[in-house]
Amino acid sequence: FTADEFRRWMKLVTEFTVDYYEHPEVYNVITSEKPGFVYKKLPAEAPYEPEPFDNVIRDLYQIIMPGLTHWQHPRFHAYFHSGQCYPDIVAETLTSAMATVNFCWDSAPAFTELEIVMVNWIGKIFGLPEEFLFNGDSETSAGGGAMQNGGSDSIALAFLAARHKRLAEVCGNIDIHCRDKEHKALSKLVAYASTEAHSSVEKSALISLVHMRPIKADEKFQMRGKDLEKQVKKDVEKGNVPFLVVVTLGTTSSGAYDQLKEIIPVAKKYNLWVHVDGSYGGNAWCCEEFRFQMEGIQDVDSININLHKTFLHSAPLSYFWTRNQRAIKDSMTIDPAYLHARHHGSATDFRNWGVPLSRRANCLKTWFILRTYGIRGMQEYIRRLIKLTTRFRGHLERDSRVEIVGQQVFSLVCFKLKVDNNNNEFMCYLCSM
Ligand code: PLP
Repeated sequence: FTADEFRRWMKLVTEFTVDYYEHPEVYNVITSEKPGFVYKKLPAEAPYEPEPFDNVIRDLYQIIMPGLTHWQHPRFHAYFHSGQCYPDIVAETLTSAMATVNFCWDSAPAFTELEIVMVNWIGKIFGLPEEFLFNGDSETSAGGGAMQNGGSDSIALAFLAARHKRLAEVCGNIDIHCRDKEHKALSKLVAYASTEAHSSVEKSALISLVHMRPIKADEKFQMRGKDLEKQVKKDVEKGNVPFLVVVTLGTTSSGAYDQLKEIIPVAKKYNLWVHVDGSYGGNAWCCEEFRFQMEGIQDVDSININLHKTFLHSAPLSYFWTRNQRAIKDSMTIDPAYLHARHHGSATDFRNWGVPLSRRANCLKTWFILRTYGIRGMQEYIRRLIKLTTRFRGHLERDSRVEIVGQQVFSLVCFKLKVDNNNNEFMCYLCSM
């Protein structure tokens, strides 16, 4: 692949990208292919000899494109809203062009600093309290944040940090070479979340080997403080150690917001780490009029918002903030000699903010998007999304065949046919066609 070939292909790829971006409707939104179709069409072995790139592109058109689910298609209504925009694609290309690996300040000085700035920019845009932002020196600041691969990673990070903190409180100083005391204490730790919480919360409990108690959501699909307290009390009476509650602001199934302001006093009383899963719902907070569900946010321990939901970022990208960066880093920092920093005084190493060492510079996307749209552009985009959703809800309200389920707060309206569930399942299928 020579530089000249690359230039030629990038021109064609640019044309392809524009055509696809402007007219994704030329494809069928879902494929008629059956599982195994690519596996059967591609050879079992990688080519030994290099092939011309034309062949690769031919197969992309013939095998891959007809087999995709086209998320940007105007008739795609499945899963969740997933945005994309030109500045995002440009940033993606440039990130690959620079091919840096961003685990510490030395490995990517400018991208580390850009990530710090984006954590603060985005945090301010969403109206997060000052305590969750980097303040002064990023390394010694009490609060701050980092990009994570997705919401699931953010939630797992909250579990691991809260678990580490509570085990240290229960067992005293942690000795990495002898974990006997912690293993014993671990069997008592209990986390809580609504029955409507995302499956990643349960997965995080699975990974961190702690008990998970689902708290039954009320008729509006919200977790309530009194229901949480009832269960926490039961656990305390049994000698268990409650340590974490995940509060979902914008649930996956219905877009409901747990009652954060009722949950905070319970969390304070029982010393629970509060993580707010704003993966979806947090995106609405860039408009002040949609911040009414945030009451109590100043008292939580950590928050995540996924920008690949409605913030025009295409790659999975979750921003994670905490008021207690010490707790995050205590649970994640291992310091081998080969990663020791050259000495610059205080510098942030984002490898200490999560499980992965090698990280991609997705902060470039956020920077490009915010600079080309401006806060005003993003607010207009979110308001339009909500306006369209409200219009859609109006159509449903006038249709006697359907019933609306739950409340529309953001860009999700749940509805069902007033008939048996088989037809509702069929409708879900139709919605994605
Ligand atoms: N939390 C909520 C409320 C979600 O809706 C989702 C995903 O849809 C997640 C967490 C998981 O996020 P991710 O898919 O980025 O891991």
